[in-house]
Amino acid sequence: MKYKRILLKLSGEALMGDQNYGIDPKKLNQYAQEIKKVKDLGTEIAIVIGGGNIYRGVQAETGGIDRVQGDYMGMLATLINAMALQSALEQNKMYTRLMSGFKVENVCEPFIRRRAIRHLEKGRIVIFGAGIGNPYFTTDSTASLRAIEIEAEVVLKGTRVDGVYTADPEKDKNATRYTTLSFQEAYEKNLSIMDMTAFTLCQENNLPIIVFDMNKSGNLEKLVMGEEIGTLITS
Ligand code: UDP
Repeated sequence: MKYKRILLKLSGEALMGDQNYGIDPKKLNQYAQEIKKVKDLGTEIAIVIGGGNIYRGVQAETGGIDRVQGDYMGMLATLINAMALQSALEQNKMYTRLMSGFKVENVCEPFIRRRAIRHLEKGRIVIFGAGIGNPYFTTDSTASLRAIEIEAEVVLKGTRVDGVYTADPEKDKNATRYTTLSFQEAYEKNLSIMDMTAFTLCQENNLPIIVFDMNKSGNLEKLVMGEEIGTLITS
């Protein structure tokens, strides 16, 4: 096993499956099964999930809602996804804890770093909901920050493409995939891997990122076992 403790970042949009909005139960279960394979290896797993399938703060202003209010709505959306994922993991016989970036005390625990680490050591999968709890951030930034705090060895960014390309592979047929990139190269080439805050946090703290296709069964397990798939971004 190459990684003992990972942080898996899933976008909210990934949960939509073939739908245009919300949560596809089939997709949720599929992800839970992929995560189970890695859990069975003995890996410690923390997960950050986005909210884009329900609400994003940037949408707010067009709807007459101020940005900060919109961001809190986005954070609540991530909590809804996190609760759904928690249920799917439990149905697949995994132990979990949901920790929120702000207090929602009837639903889950607040994020407390030492407690999160203890949960991981005890074999529980920890899901971080509500982002970092502050507006003007994203769940990518949350993934980087929490990964650093819990001393994860890598951020695994699960997407629907199998890595970082020279151009958008869904638009440009000649686009080729990078197998590895340095943070500096990714920055100079202006490749969109994560937003700048998230990216810089990883770079400054020497935390590698791997972008990979989460929809391909077995990929997560292969990564944890050290197989080179997707794109590795490192110092
Ligand atoms: N958000 C926030 N602070 C955070 C994390 C998230 O304000 O720390 C809000 C922000 O409005 C964001 C929304 O929650 O647009 C949903 O998260 P994100 O867009 O990162 O989800 P994803 O694109 O991964 O589905």
